[in-house]
Amino acid sequence: MEKVLIIDSSRVTASFIAKTLQRTGFICDMAYNYEQAESLIAINKYFAGLSSIFLDGVEPGRGIDLLLENDIPAIAVTSTLDESILTEISKKNIVDYVLKKREHAEYIERIVCRIYKNRGLKVMVVDDSSSVRNWISSILKRQGLEVLAAADGREASRLFNRNPDIKLVLTDYTMPEMDGLQLTAHLRTIMPMDELAIIVLSSDSKSRTAPLFIKTGANDFIHKSASFEEILCRVNSNLETLELIQESRDRANKDFLTGIWNRRYFFEYAEPLYRRYAEGGLPLCLALMDIDFFKKVNDTYGHDAGDRVLKEFAAMLTEHVGSKGLAARFGGEEFTVILDAVKEDELIPFLDEFRRKIEMHSLDYNGRTIRFTISIGCTGIKGSALSGMISRADSMLYEAKESGRNRVVCE
Ligand code: GH3
Ligand code: MG
Ligand code: MG
Repeated sequence: MEKVLIIDSSRVTASFIAKTLQRTGFICDMAYNYEQAESLIAINKYFAGLSSIFLDGVEPGRGIDLLLENDIPAIAVTSTLDESILTEISKKNIVDYVLKKREHAEYIERIVCRIYKNRGLKVMVVDDSSSVRNWISSILKRQGLEVLAAADGREASRLFNRNPDIKLVLTDYTMPEMDGLQLTAHLRTIMPMDELAIIVLSSDSKSRTAPLFIKTGANDFIHKSASFEEILCRVNSNLETLELIQESRDRANKDFLTGIWNRRYFFEYAEPLYRRYAEGGLPLCLALMDIDFFKKVNDTYGHDAGDRVLKEFAAMLTEHVGSKGLAARFGGEEFTVILDAVKEDELIPFLDEFRRKIEMHSLDYNGRTIRFTISIGCTGIKGSALSGMISRADSMLYEAKESGRNRVVCE
């Protein structure tokens, strides 16, 4: 699925674009004429395509049409900024056009990465005019985005409740029922600015309108006379900002090796959860688990093999815990789980099922099979602090180790 098709009669241009994209890890196929492109499309799946406007032997724009006819998001490659040619090309459902210039290599890479990341990303267009709604939706759909549409603020907020994974909302200002300003204010009570971008698209040109929206929580304001290129640039830059924030948040909260939550985030999450459950008298369980004789894995198969075991273990733990709680790497080969959706009498079966899964699991490492077991200590007694739960689970883990390992001991 990571394949890109490049159609250009010039081998130099095609291979220049291919080299640019290969740096990011994309696989590039090159076609030097229309027929070659046709046969490649017949047997391959491409998530994006770039085509020169002019190809030998066919009329201008045919390469782009070929991509679009096959539902491949298309980027036009041009060596000219001739207004009439660009206007003609922009009428097609292209993602964007890029200039055949060395200094535009970075932009080509960025736009292809954008299409790649857009797959499965949800955005919502809100406008009472169906023609504007359809126009904006089509611009966004050709970027590979999943587009939901609503005719007013009320419909939009209902749609958002059902799709809280929407990452960007493009809304009109004046609409019946609930207008864009009320919608912005409402969405901000549910989602902060760093998790949902709101862009307002309005024909209102009063000088106080844009600041009013920004102060209400909109990320951006675009005038309705904007070109599709401008709308696209703003959408992309807002999505990129959200991703940058997410990346830096992950760097702070996730364990580098396993990608599971780290110790820091565990406390950030578990402390308020503990307080809420303690006040409400609700059941809460905590487990500490440690891989048995992990040092032996490192000594026998090497440190890299040990790392693989940790990664695989973390992935299995995350899957087993699912939405029943939160799992984190506590340090070394020790992991912790806080469970708010497992009843006390289900705790031991739930953890023992995981212990058995690990015991039965075997990992292939360079043709060798690695097997390992874990010991688990757990508690369902809240006491007066989270730290108390952790130290009780730790004592239980110690008992599990002392009494022979590969077992669950619960207080
Ligand atoms: P026990 O059953 O008593 O827990 O024995 P153990 O060997 O698992 O425990 P011990 O604490 O003696 O050794 C843990 C080892 O885990 C030592 C350390 O080098 C290794 N380790 C800690 N972090 C990592 C890591 O990120 N990667 C690898 N490969 N090893 C790690
Ligand atoms: Mg250990
Ligand atoms: Mg240890």
